[in-house]
Amino acid sequence: METEPSYLVESRNRCKAAGLDPAKFPVPAHVLSHSQLIRQQIKYGEILSVARFFSDRILSLLNNTPLVILITDDAGYILEIYGDESMKMMMVQTGITIGIQMNEKDMGTNVISLSLQERKPIEIIGDGHYHHFLHDSACYGVPFSFSDINGLAGTVAIMTSVQFQSPFPLSLLSNMVDSMEREILLRRKNRTQHLLTHIMLNTLRSGIIITDKFGSITEFNQFAEQITCYEKKDVLCQSVFSLEPIGQYLFEVLRQGEKFEDVELTITNGSGQKFILLFDALPIYDDHHELMGAYAQFRDITDRCELEKQVIVSEKYSAIGKMAAGFAHEIRNPLTSIMGFMQLLMERARKTQQEIPYADIMYLELQRVNKLVTDFVLMAKPSVPDRKLCIAQNVLTETVQLMESQTILNGITLDTDFHTEPLPLFIDPIQMKQVFINVIQNAIEAIGSRRGRIVVSLKQDPHTQCAVIQIHDNGSGMTEDEIKHIVNPFFTTKEDGLGLGLSVSYRIIENHKGKISVSSEKGVGTLFTIQLPIHHASDC
Ligand code: ADP
Ligand code: MG
Repeated sequence: METEPSYLVESRNRCKAAGLDPAKFPVPAHVLSHSQLIRQQIKYGEILSVARFFSDRILSLLNNTPLVILITDDAGYILEIYGDESMKMMMVQTGITIGIQMNEKDMGTNVISLSLQERKPIEIIGDGHYHHFLHDSACYGVPFSFSDINGLAGTVAIMTSVQFQSPFPLSLLSNMVDSMEREILLRRKNRTQHLLTHIMLNTLRSGIIITDKFGSITEFNQFAEQITCYEKKDVLCQSVFSLEPIGQYLFEVLRQGEKFEDVELTITNGSGQKFILLFDALPIYDDHHELMGAYAQFRDITDRCELEKQVIVSEKYSAIGKMAAGFAHEIRNPLTSIMGFMQLLMERARKTQQEIPYADIMYLELQRVNKLVTDFVLMAKPSVPDRKLCIAQNVLTETVQLMESQTILNGITLDTDFHTEPLPLFIDPIQMKQVFINVIQNAIEAIGSRRGRIVVSLKQDPHTQCAVIQIHDNGSGMTEDEIKHIVNPFFTTKEDGLGLGLSVSYRIIENHKGKISVSSEKGVGTLFTIQLPIHHASDC
């Protein structure tokens, strides 16, 4: 007979010395309360779930052998018992159950406390146990300590009947512990990978949509949710083909294996927001070149497109600017001389009471050309405002007086409402009058022969400390599309219009750090609002 390991002999001696009665069932002195047990089971959750997986395999491998597998923590508390139900029942009757601590002092010689103490696999067969009731049992215990898994330690033990004793259970358990550690690490790695993918997908400033080979959506990231206004949970497993206009591209991808790159798409989502997207779509193949699904990604380039548009506009301005500078030089000087001579001629003709045919018309036409040139230059290269301290009421009154003859001629009522204390402005009065004239002139033209009304009002905005000038007419009004274009140079809806008046005015207001805005309704009328900062003595 093999000699018994000394730790076994010593353990039994300790039990004897402690006065344990080998003929009686031991009474566990340390038992976890329900909540303590739950807490510990949660802490060992991953180990327990992996242990269950491997225990099931051992149990099915040894399905003719009645056995139980116990998992304990590092203090020997039993956290789980898997296996044969009748054996579990029997163990409960002897006091061995989930939640108790298998320490030597109370429970006698056992594989759990000994393998924790000796830090190695231990087997105790039959009367190797101290207690008589265990002399029919063969027990095997293997400690574990997973340094990579938060240093969690404990034991895995097998208990079976002595007639089934063999060298296998111990090596099975040792293998199980190794496999458990590997499995847990693998699961953690997978989880980290999963988390990483999740973070990457959902922090990306690109929309990602993935489908299976039938076009059913399997991935829909947060950015895609934002752009489309669809929620992931609502579109998962739904067909991508109904998702306009992305769907039709993915249809081609899945049908023909086609690839799309840098397609510019415009979509309007459920909330009515319009986006311009740069879109790619391609098929996904597995290792055997079988089509698995489709992948689509898109970036929001709405802002970029907007910027491009602005650049184009400003390029247009600067091109016009260069042209205008040359234009003004070449035309203005001869024009001034022609107009001067023309005036001279007219003066002389009047004195001699002669008549120069069409002289008035010619002079008017020359004035028109002169205005065109001046406007052109002003718009393209607005001169720096020659600012003076002016009273808003005065500038407005002078402008209104200037326009009155025209309004009377057209049967238009021109009313003013300047009932506020005098508002000082630091402005170029000539340029500012030009703005008011342009806007009032437009109002007159918008009313046409309809006998309408124009109201020019001045107020002080208490919040922004600005003078607010409003010019309201009940003329033709504008469509939304027209409103969008009125600032563009040369935009006009008039047969003989130049389309420069408002672009010049906007420029002038901008140079004065003011604001100009418009609201209008086709067939109803138009309201222009101009805000100019009020000058304070301390501003000087
Ligand atoms: P123009 O008067 O030479 O056409 P503007 O730049 O002054 O050029 O105006 C551009 C266009 O804006 C006009 O042709 C007209 O269509 C529109 N518009 C401006 N003001 C009004 C207004 N008060 N009512 C209706 N349409 C207007
Ligand atoms: Mg005009």
